[in-house]
Amino acid sequence: MIFFNFLAAFILASIIAIISFKLKFLTWRGILAQFILAILIFGFGGLKWAVPVVIFFFLSSILTIIRTKKNKSVETYFEKPGQRDQYQVLANGGIGGLLVLLSQFIKPELLYYIYVSSLASVCADTWATEIGTMWKAKTVSILSFNEEGQGTSGGISLNGMIGSFLGAVIISLSSLYWIGLDKLNYLFIIASAGFLGSIADSILGASVQAQFNCSVCGKITEKKIHCLKNASKIKGFYWINNDVVNFVTSLIGGFFFFLFRIILKV
Ligand SMILES: [Zn+2]
Repeated sequence: MIFFNFLAAFILASIIAIISFKLKFLTWRGILAQFILAILIFGFGGLKWAVPVVIFFFLSSILTIIRTKKNKSVETYFEKPGQRDQYQVLANGGIGGLLVLLSQFIKPELLYYIYVSSLASVCADTWATEIGTMWKAKTVSILSFNEEGQGTSGGISLNGMIGSFLGAVIISLSSLYWIGLDKLNYLFIIASAGFLGSIADSILGASVQAQFNCSVCGKITEKKIHCLKNASKIKGFYWINNDVVNFVTSLIGGFFFFLFRIILKV
């Protein structure tokens, strides 16, 4: 049985790697990291763990393709535009890999709920960016409410909020078959944890994440280097980049599930 699980995992992980390569989503190190993570999650977790992350991958890929066609200019702000690297992959999926390994030994159901919540949070954050920057829209800082450039860490917009909500709900629903209709309250908690996780991501982005000002073009950016020159830091901590914030976001999504379950006593 375990042999067939890993054989299926290998085939599915290969398909995803080929798509990432063809669409130039990831650097080759990024593809390798994604491949290993996918084998772990699909092989140990089976369909139950694979379906939510596969849905996240395919739908987010489609959104990225559409957003790139509609509004590529927003990427000038992003720390790592275009191809994502291994750090971005691990920041988003590392927790999932860790949880599936742990679930082989302890509390598989609880760790599964935490996994889906973590993924809901990652998806909410990803969709907030992709749907939020698909069209030109007014963006304000989540903390000061001052108007900001689109795609800015800590910037929120109505489209982005809708994207975030949809991302959290889709991932929650993707686990419906395994969580079951008798635990609809869990699906509600997972979606809420995911949505709040992406809000936390924006707050971290607006407060502690490093932001730079390019001395050449004058743009505010997540990039340490812009227009081939060192940009000067205007806020946040130098070492807290987008990957660190995304990693914390994926932790927070799982943590919120845990917290809600205790508060609501379910
Ligand atoms: Zn510049």
